[in-house]
Amino acid sequence: MATPPHQRSARRPTANSPQMMGLVAVAFVGALLLFVITGAAANRPTDREVIIESSQANLTPGAALAAPLAAGPTPRSTVERPVGPYVGIVAGHWGNDPGAVCPDGTTEKDTNLQIAQLVAKKLRERGVWVDLLQEFDSRLDGFSADVLVSIHADSCEPVDADPPATGFKVARSQASQIPTLTDKLAECLRTEYRKATGLEFHENSITNDMTFYHSFNELDPNTPAAIIETGFLYLDYDMIVKQPELPAEGITNGILCFLKTQL
Ligand SMILES: [Zn+2]
Repeated sequence: MATPPHQRSARRPTANSPQMMGLVAVAFVGALLLFVITGAAANRPTDREVIIESSQANLTPGAALAAPLAAGPTPRSTVERPVGPYVGIVAGHWGNDPGAVCPDGTTEKDTNLQIAQLVAKKLRERGVWVDLLQEFDSRLDGFSADVLVSIHADSCEPVDADPPATGFKVARSQASQIPTLTDKLAECLRTEYRKATGLEFHENSITNDMTFYHSFNELDPNTPAAIIETGFLYLDYDMIVKQPELPAEGITNGILCFLKTQL
C-alpha cells in the first residue's frame, strides 16, 4: 500500500539537510554515552554486594576471611591495628617458664607453643591476621584485637579427682567490659573444641588463675578474651602432645565461629 506523501516526508528526513545531520550526530553521541555509563554501573557491584560476597566466601571452610569485621559495641582503642580480622594467640608460659613438666621431659610450654603455632598457621590460611604472643609479651599491654586466646595445658601429675582429671576448660576474662560478647567467644571455643577433640569440658576445676588470668587485666577490656586449658598432660597426653592438630583445629574453629558472629 502506498504511503501518503505528507506522512512519508515526516518520517524520512532528507539526507542533504545539515541541521538534521547535526541532530542525528548529537543523538548518536548521547546514546553512546548513556550506554557506556549505564553499562559500567550495571557491571560494578555496589559496596554492599562486595561485602556480602566476601562474607559468604569467608564462611566457606578454607576460604580467605578477609572482610573487615563490624566494629564492636564500644569504640576500640586508638592503637594502630591491621585491617580485617585480627587475633592474638598467647602460647602459655612461652618466654617465661616451662609450666607443668612431665617425667619424660615434655613441658607444658612446648605443648602450648606447638598448638599455638598450628592455630596461628590455620587462621592465617583463612586470611586472619595473627600475632603469636609470649606469656608476658610487652604487646599485651593495651592489646586491641577481635579476639585474644591464651593456650595452656593442665598438670602432668596424676590428679585424684572426681570426675577423673581429663578434659579441657575454657574461661573468659572477668575483667571484660563486653561480657555478653566474650561469653559468646567462650561458648564457641567450648563447642568447637569438644567437637574436634572429643574431650569433655572439665568445669569443676576452673580456678581463679584462669578467670583472673593476668593478661586479661593488661589488654584493652574491649577485646574479647578467653583462656583455654587444652587438657591434662597426665591423662590427655596422647591428644594434646601426640596429636596437636586436633586441639589446634578445635581452637581455630572456635575462633572462626566467634568471628562469624561479628560479620
Ligand atoms: Zn599453664
